[in-house]
Amino acid sequence: MLVSTCLTLALGQRLPADTINAMVEWLIINEAAVQLRPEAGDMMNGLDAAVKHGRKVIDNPPERIYLGNCGCGAELRADRGVGHVQCQGCGSTWMTQDVVDHRNMVARSHLMTLPEIVTMAVVPKSTLYRWATRLEQRGQRDGMDVYRYGDVLDLKEQTKRKASA
Ligand SMILES: [Zn+2]
Repeated sequence: MLVSTCLTLALGQRLPADTINAMVEWLIINEAAVQLRPEAGDMMNGLDAAVKHGRKVIDNPPERIYLGNCGCGAELRADRGVGHVQCQGCGSTWMTQDVVDHRNMVARSHLMTLPEIVTMAVVPKSTLYRWATRLEQRGQRDGMDVYRYGDVLDLKEQTKRKASA
């Protein structure tokens, strides 16, 4: 049982609505009363666990970005924001931006699903899904809509130009 439910019952109040805002409001209003209750420690443990769970959801490890293939054929992947990458196949070192620029040039005409485009890491996932209505659907593969990768790059460039104008 949620500790807030125990406390609400102990304090003789109605349960807050099942929304973050309502629960936070309930906590603020009842802060002094909660501190005096024997269940306060359990409630703090429950809140601590909820915060830790929330952090796990939002504090993901750095995303590995697919950069393309090395000349030796091995896939090159790097953590977001890392300036260079070393090939696990042959040991060559590549500048990440050079590899990304080459990959983007080669992949412009490729048709990809949104999850595939997400792995290219040219725009945040939330932005890409918001943009999906502005991208021309070019067909379907395995029941999923596909888009031309170059359209995403062009839309990103247009958006960047509008933002700086
Ligand atoms: Zn290599």
